Amino acid sequence: MVALAEISRARTHAVRVGPVVVGGGAPVVVQSMTNTDTADIDATVAQAAELFRAGSELVRITVDRIEAARAVPAIRERLEVLGLDVPLVGDFHYNGHRLLDEVGELGPALAKLRINPGNVGFGAKRDRQFEQMIETAMRFDKPVRIGVNWGSLDQDLAAHLMDANAGRPDPQPADFVLREALVRSALDSAAHAEKMGMSGTKIVISAKVSRVQDLVAVYRELARRSSYALHLGLTEAGMGIKGIAATTAGLSLLLQEGIGDTIRASLTPRPGESRTGEVRLCQEVLQSLGLRSFAPQVTACPGCGRTTSTVFQELAERIENFLQRQMPLWRSKYPGVETLDVAVMGCIVNGPGESKHADIGISLPGTGESPTAPVFIDGHKATTLRGPHIAEEFQRIVEDYVARRFAPGPAPGPVSMDEVDA
Ligand code: SF4
Repeated sequence: MVALAEISRARTHAVRVGPVVVGGGAPVVVQSMTNTDTADIDATVAQAAELFRAGSELVRITVDRIEAARAVPAIRERLEVLGLDVPLVGDFHYNGHRLLDEVGELGPALAKLRINPGNVGFGAKRDRQFEQMIETAMRFDKPVRIGVNWGSLDQDLAAHLMDANAGRPDPQPADFVLREALVRSALDSAAHAEKMGMSGTKIVISAKVSRVQDLVAVYRELARRSSYALHLGLTEAGMGIKGIAATTAGLSLLLQEGIGDTIRASLTPRPGESRTGEVRLCQEVLQSLGLRSFAPQVTACPGCGRTTSTVFQELAERIENFLQRQMPLWRSKYPGVETLDVAVMGCIVNGPGESKHADIGISLPGTGESPTAPVFIDGHKATTLRGPHIAEEFQRIVEDYVARRFAPGPAPGPVSMDEVDA
């Protein structure tokens, strides 16, 4: 028997962010960030709602100037009117202490404050301004994310560690020292907040970098040295397939080791492209790793020289679209339907075998095979479809299966062939 790796995330503190729990063994939380001007209330409400409806459990918004700070309470209210309890995270740099002070309703409207210790002020002001933000968070009983970033690393700390490294008999490479500076910046800032009286259960930390191997090294170290809940993400991942591949590689390596309590995919959308792609990617990563289920999965073979017609691709796409369309209704009507596994296979080589592994699967005829499509339900051949309406009939069988298996109430009995063929 080949055993699966045991993945435990229970070693971190559980942090409550509005209605959501991050860390302490809770399911990994998906989050995202708007790219609207926060001062544009209509645009920000629309995008926050879109991200939330797509499955973003926390939505971060930029709070960069007084107009943005004043807009946040109105954004919060408008989302509530829409019936959306979206936990908003305020992203602050440089002037957060002042904005939180000047706009009294800003702190209460947020579920969490993100503070970047590298961008919270300069020289002697840095500690005071960081402390002001921690005091505000404690006053409103809000958690914080202490989020350091490769691109805005505390330069004084980095210079100090570089000097110390240069004086060693065996100096380490510069990258090694900068990674240590990132880890130290996050952990020292968190320790500073705790010294001020903030509980460790109010602190999430992150240390984002843009290269996968740096990300893995930095987060392993954070996990080894602390019990803070960890926000995980590869920053500036990029566009298209490159961004998806880099994000998936970085997140998966760490999540598989039990590291990471909340994740974000920092993809650059194409002009006009919906921001929800980053939410979908996080969900797909978690579902592919078997950590959470968000939507029914369609297992489809890639097709090859045995699938010379487009019937197979069309059916796979049709079923995928059908499942997506049904999900808003099914989610409320059929609890657990997101765990459904459907297989659409192109020929007899792997078709019946893969279909038997799925909850419900169809093996289409490949080139030269007889024009029939056996359907398998719960591992058993249930019926064979033929003729021009295979897609519609298979869709109906999937719908019946969902209603039978996921409707609340006593567990259904096995499906008989007579019922399917009827
Ligand atoms: S199942 Fe058949 S059609 Fe699909 S990839 Fe394998 S051999 Fe090709």
